[in-house]
Amino acid sequence: MRLRDSNLAKLDHEDFDVLIIGGGINGAVSAAALAGQGARVALIDRGDFAGYTSQSSSNLAWGGIKYMEGAEFALVRKLCMSRNRLLLTYPSSVKEVRFYVNMAKGFRLPRLVLYLGAWLYWLIGNGFTQKPRLLSKQTIDREEPIIRTEGGQGGFEYSDAYLVDNDARFVFNFIRDGLDHGAIVSNYVESLGASRDGKGHWVTEAKDLVSGREFSIRSRLLINACGPLVDHHNELTGEVTPHHHLFSKGVHLIVDRITQANRVLTFFADDGRLFFVIPMGPKSCIGTTDTQVTALPPVVTDEDRHFILDNVNKRLNLQKPLTQDDIIAERCGVRPLVASTKKGENTYADWTSLSRKHAVDVDVEARHISIFGGKITDCLNVGEEVAAKVAELGIALPYRGHSWYGEPSSAIRNEFFHQAKLMGLDDMTAPESSERLSTRLWRRYQASALSLLEDIRQDPRMAEVLLHGTEYIRCEITHAARCEMVVKLEDFLRRRSKIALVARHETVHQAPGLMEACRILFGDEAQARYDEYFADGMVADAKPAQRAHAQGA
Ligand SMILES: Cc1cc2nc3c(=O)[nH]c(=O)nc-3n(C[C@H](O)[C@H](O)[C@H](O)COP(=O)(O)OP(=O)(O)OC[C@H]3O[C@@H](n4cnc5c(N)ncnc54)[C@H](O)[C@@H]3O)c2cc1C
Repeated sequence: MRLRDSNLAKLDHEDFDVLIIGGGINGAVSAAALAGQGARVALIDRGDFAGYTSQSSSNLAWGGIKYMEGAEFALVRKLCMSRNRLLLTYPSSVKEVRFYVNMAKGFRLPRLVLYLGAWLYWLIGNGFTQKPRLLSKQTIDREEPIIRTEGGQGGFEYSDAYLVDNDARFVFNFIRDGLDHGAIVSNYVESLGASRDGKGHWVTEAKDLVSGREFSIRSRLLINACGPLVDHHNELTGEVTPHHHLFSKGVHLIVDRITQANRVLTFFADDGRLFFVIPMGPKSCIGTTDTQVTALPPVVTDEDRHFILDNVNKRLNLQKPLTQDDIIAERCGVRPLVASTKKGENTYADWTSLSRKHAVDVDVEARHISIFGGKITDCLNVGEEVAAKVAELGIALPYRGHSWYGEPSSAIRNEFFHQAKLMGLDDMTAPESSERLSTRLWRRYQASALSLLEDIRQDPRMAEVLLHGTEYIRCEITHAARCEMVVKLEDFLRRRSKIALVARHETVHQAPGLMEACRILFGDEAQARYDEYFADGMVADAKPAQRAHAQGA
């Protein structure tokens, strides 16, 4: 029986301490924190894990240098500490990266003021990263000739961190941690609403969106981690909270690699906001926009594309300006911003003053928790805060204090790399790959990477690239089929891997090996899942050319 099917049967029949609605970063860390400390946890998501906002971030673990302009030093301190903790506990998947800032003349603040600000930022972050550095125009010309420096005043460089394998993969690894500690989890299960029974327990009406079957899930406590849809779900359950969400849309475009250096090119866009060219494997991810929206889900407009392309074209010495034809994939999401529900407080009018902090609202009597806002950077704090509130609400956490996050110990890591060396694994590295196979497998699969080595020992074909034009080898697909709850092809191509972001849609379509991958992932349903993925209009945020075609553009 497949993992999802067995979990669905358990959701239907067992009683849980906690049911979490939503498998974005906030739901995923809550599941990992609670299951790791011994609670009986269930989690459902109406789409795929990280399939909504948490697949559309800038992939940064950062201290929020831009909030310093608004003097939000306490928030910056907290985020810097969160970033440092991720760097320490996820050394292979969260890496320090340099932000290479180029400034135009006449910017609202002089370069030296910003440079001093970068030092203050560094100090606020306990000097955990490399020190800032002042950049003259000549240095920029020498080190990054792609940057247009004429009419500029030079710049400076500072450090933050980024998620090497993408936000969605990072989130999935918390889902996996939850599963490893006994959480019962399923994607494509929607909560239709919940109410309390005579004993005060929550009964959530759920629908399996694959089979259409409806059933109930019973839990003593309910956590609403629906991201931008938190308010919507609270309406379904009749919960009234001190906070609600307002939304800011952010779009990124992915294009061929702009600079080979592994640094984030940083500018101030025409609207005065920070604007980045971020490394994403073999490609560059450019963005972002910041537009107030009320309608969900957000969509990328031509205005968004023009804003990003114009800004980058103005600031770089490209041989040929980037056009819409250069876009390989698009990412689009809304930042859920926390606003007070009190009448007259926090409207779009005070947009800039809206805090970027998260809020965890607790209804003690109903044993209900709503998580508002949040950042991937701050996820460990969210997990800890939620676990503390759950314990306060009387749910026993028998293993309180058990370390529920972080990469496996150095003993397991050393054993993995030792076995990989004995097998000559890195000699099997595919030409498509820019890094050692052992490094990549360890980062993505952590302790499970040892079982991938076993697969390769048993059958060396397991180390062959299955999807040509990508770096994915056969055993990664068999592992995904076994352990990663892949329901649709998009789940694998867009979120467990980042193939749909870095390879053009046509390239993926023509990749030899794709049908074999579908057979491994979906068995008898291979053709149906393949057809579903390549049908017009699928994967709204990853296939710009195809969607434009579908819209008649
Ligand atoms: C453009 C942009 C850039 C960003 N950049 C960064 C960054 O660089 N660094 C950083 O730290 N943060 C960043 N953020 C912020 C961060 O990405 C978000 O705050 C975070 O991902 C929100 O996670 P979430 O779990 O609250 O919501 P989501 O990821 O949206 O998860 C909510 C889940 O709930 C599910 N759901 C909703 N309703 C139901 C229902 N009825 N039944 C079942 N499931 C349901 C949804 O399907 C969804 O998967 C960025 C955000 C954006 C938009």
